[in-house]
Amino acid sequence: MLTITRKLEFDAGHRIPDHKSQCRNLHGHRYTLEITLVGAVIEEEGSSDRGMIMDFSDVKALAKQYLVDVWDHAFLVYAKDEKVREFLQSLPGHKTVVIDSIPTVENLAQTAFNILKAAYQDRYGTGLRLHKLVLHETPNCWAEITE
Ligand SMILES: [Zn+2]
Repeated sequence: MLTITRKLEFDAGHRIPDHKSQCRNLHGHRYTLEITLVGAVIEEEGSSDRGMIMDFSDVKALAKQYLVDVWDHAFLVYAKDEKVREFLQSLPGHKTVVIDSIPTVENLAQTAFNILKAAYQDRYGTGLRLHKLVLHETPNCWAEITE
């Protein structure tokens, strides 16, 4: 199977409300995102992206538009983490993203996968789709989804 992968990074804050240890505290990570796409190589004569599954600059532009620019320097808060949501709302103009599940790297990877899956799906009629997403919370810890 031929795939292409684009790596992007962003910074975000979170906390795991019921965690037994350190992760219950407000803190942040430099997340690394790896987006892997599969699809037929574009064969259209004279096309700028001929010979490519997708131009890497387009992979990046869509990832930024739908996810990275939305989450970068935001606090990713669990919808039911009432105390932190209240606090964040009290800060004028604070960049907050409410997540439906506890923002572990597993759940953030799943949320990111769902958002980006819709963003890349069949953009050129080449069967282009998101095949895999890897989200690193630290250099040593990550979650990976393949579909
Ligand atoms: Zn953390």
